[in-house]
Amino acid sequence: MRIGVMGGTFDPIHLGHLRAAEEIYWAFALDHIIFVPAARPPHKADQDVAAPIHRYEMVSLATVFSPYFSVSPIEISRPGRSYSVETLRELLKLYGPETHLWFIMGVDTFLEMSTWKEAAQILRLAQVVVTARPGWRLDEVEKTLTPRQRRQLGSPQFKYLKIAEVTPDPSRRGPVPGLVLLVEVVSLDISSTEIRQLVEEGRSIRFLVPDTVAAYMSKNRLYQGRREAAGEGVQGSLLGGWEE
Ligand code: ATP
Ligand code: MG
Repeated sequence: MRIGVMGGTFDPIHLGHLRAAEEIYWAFALDHIIFVPAARPPHKADQDVAAPIHRYEMVSLATVFSPYFSVSPIEISRPGRSYSVETLRELLKLYGPETHLWFIMGVDTFLEMSTWKEAAQILRLAQVVVTARPGWRLDEVEKTLTPRQRRQLGSPQFKYLKIAEVTPDPSRRGPVPGLVLLVEVVSLDISSTEIRQLVEEGRSIRFLVPDTVAAYMSKNRLYQGRREAAGEGVQGSLLGGWEE
């Protein structure tokens, strides 16, 4: 089995995440992609992030129409901080030795990866696939890394590819240890930060998140913090006319 793993805070999940996953799924002929919401990002306080159950539910609703996408509670049900290396090991144990993992992340995340627990090991447990994101140059990732960061990543090799150039090699089913694939996907200029901001300001988030996710956010009054505090109530058209 060829399984993609996409980690993130998903606060909330949006179409940028889903489109990147969709392109990688087809390009690498994966069997499945598992979205793994993180328990809590290490640099954020608990109250700054929606509860794990909400983030999990939103990923579940976002993937409900995609048979090859699913969500795993593996990180949110583990006490303490989330470590990707532990998640990958657990998934390999769960799915057995015939399974190969493709660990998918955006370029902004990859540039922080050298600080992660057992970063070099991650590049050996899974095929790391780094996808483009507006604002970051994928073809300059190699140059951007400092010698120290490179060492912490186990001095990986890099391969830059346009999505159309990816040829899933059926004879080589597993990851190439220590190789980082930099893949240009259609990158949508969407971030969870922007979505939270829009909701807070009572503006439309339509076509940035799946409608199912927008409905869940509205129903559970997520991200409306300051508006509520200001006594504006929750009846405003958060969905940009979606409810009518
Ligand atoms: P925030 O603004 O809260 O940091 P985010 O939009 O960056 O949210 P994350 O949950 O932090 O979303 O990201 C999860 C993963 O998805 C990361 O690897 C990130 O690089 C990637 N990603 C996020 N947004 C996009 C996008 N628009 N296109 C491609 N990849 C993305
Ligand atoms: Mg982010």
